[in-house]
Amino acid sequence: MAQAPHKPSPKKLHIKTFGCQMNAYDSERMAEALQPAGYSLTDDAEDADLVILNTCHIREKAAEKVYSELGRVRLAKARRHHEGRDTLVAVAGCVAQAEGREIIARAPVVDIVVGPQSYHRLADLVAEAARGGKDLVETEFPAKDKFAHLPERPKGKVQASAFVTVQEGCDKFCTFCVVPYTRGAEFSRAPSEIVAEVERLALRGAHEITLLGQNVNAYHGMDEDGLNWSLAKLLRRLAEIPEIDRLRYTTSHPRDMDDGLIALFAEEAKLMPYLHLPFQAGSDRILAAMNRKHTIAEYEELIGKVRQARPDIALSTDIIVGFPGETDADFEETLALAARTRFAQAFSFKYSARPGTPAAKLDNQVPEAAKRERLAALQSLLDQARHAFDRATIGRRLDVLFEGKGRKPGQVAGRSPYLQAVHVEGPQELIGEIAEVDILAAGPNSLTGVIKSEFAWREPVQAAV
Ligand code: SAM
Ligand code: SF4
Repeated sequence: MAQAPHKPSPKKLHIKTFGCQMNAYDSERMAEALQPAGYSLTDDAEDADLVILNTCHIREKAAEKVYSELGRVRLAKARRHHEGRDTLVAVAGCVAQAEGREIIARAPVVDIVVGPQSYHRLADLVAEAARGGKDLVETEFPAKDKFAHLPERPKGKVQASAFVTVQEGCDKFCTFCVVPYTRGAEFSRAPSEIVAEVERLALRGAHEITLLGQNVNAYHGMDEDGLNWSLAKLLRRLAEIPEIDRLRYTTSHPRDMDDGLIALFAEEAKLMPYLHLPFQAGSDRILAAMNRKHTIAEYEELIGKVRQARPDIALSTDIIVGFPGETDADFEETLALAARTRFAQAFSFKYSARPGTPAAKLDNQVPEAAKRERLAALQSLLDQARHAFDRATIGRRLDVLFEGKGRKPGQVAGRSPYLQAVHVEGPQELIGEIAEVDILAAGPNSLTGVIKSEFAWREPVQAAV
């Protein structure tokens, strides 16, 4: 008699994700890669046979959080051990890449250290650790595409809004940034691989896709004929997928924002009117010291072109205050640029010296108190601009993609085309669907509105695959 295929015993996996959307995407892919070994996700770390911390190294605070979390994991592991249950602990992501074996020296509770380019090795590493393997550290930059070696994404319904990493790594070497060291050289996935992944997500219920990359607009994936596709070409192709209603991409670098990509804001209705375009600092002197390789005039020219293509666009940015050598006058230029540009959203940070980066070695570091003061002044200005943008949508009718329950019972919450959070009273059946909403009010962090009364939403897509 033929033997039944071996079915792995069910096990629980808890993943805690720190940092950027690319880490969120990687966490999903890691969970999928471990499914064949019997792992299913749990929100409760104490319930987990395997805990993965997917870490971020971009600023010191982010990296330190990992060690305090490992302290909590150590206690949970000890409690489980007392009950006769084992727990494996893995550190993934950019801290894993940057610190490697040192993590195990500092936190012996860790069994596995795996860098972002090695997730296709995760299932093997976990199996080895379960057999008693110790000190498992995998931080090579293999010369192969990790995505092509991860298992195909499994069946079942997905969120209405999904992320897809299309490009990884960075060759730009901004002097403050660890990404080129932790994520390696720039690499673009093949267009066919991305299209197939988005088609599968579409069949499983995704209506919105956000393409991710550290420098997503430098995308140049090669097709089967040896032709390089630009991001604009990739977006046009993805817009042909009928179930996909919305496309976004992030993060863009001003240097790679070409005219074809800008024109798409006017030409492709599925491309949402939202652009995240970091400027980092408002003074040319600081930009040069950061090695950003563009000037403020060039940045503003780009903004002008984007606004010409799509006058209602929501602009977003990243800004660093207190880069080494930044004077009060330099900072005033940052404030002035932020005021002129009127961002709908912005992320601002105090400069954090990162080991191994050129800026960390500069001796004109800005004192912490000055950084704190500058950040507070900048954030107050950015908040005003964000509120002004939000208030300007009051009275408008916007398409909202509903993604989950709202804050209060009976509410559902979603995102406007401008990526604003929107809350309405409405049936749970709306989750996963797009509906027109009349915007009534703008709160500190979200809009509220009512669903257009004669609204009729599409039949939900079957989770057919
Ligand atoms: N590739 C994107 C670009 O070029 O704008 C940015 C990617 S980085 C993961 C996200 C943001 O973190 C950066 O835009 C920058 O504002 C911030 N950041 C990076 N390194 C930093 C540092 N050492 N200190 C403070 N903020 C930093
Ligand atoms: Fe870091 Fe972005 Fe500069 Fe690359 S372009 S080094 S990811 S800030």
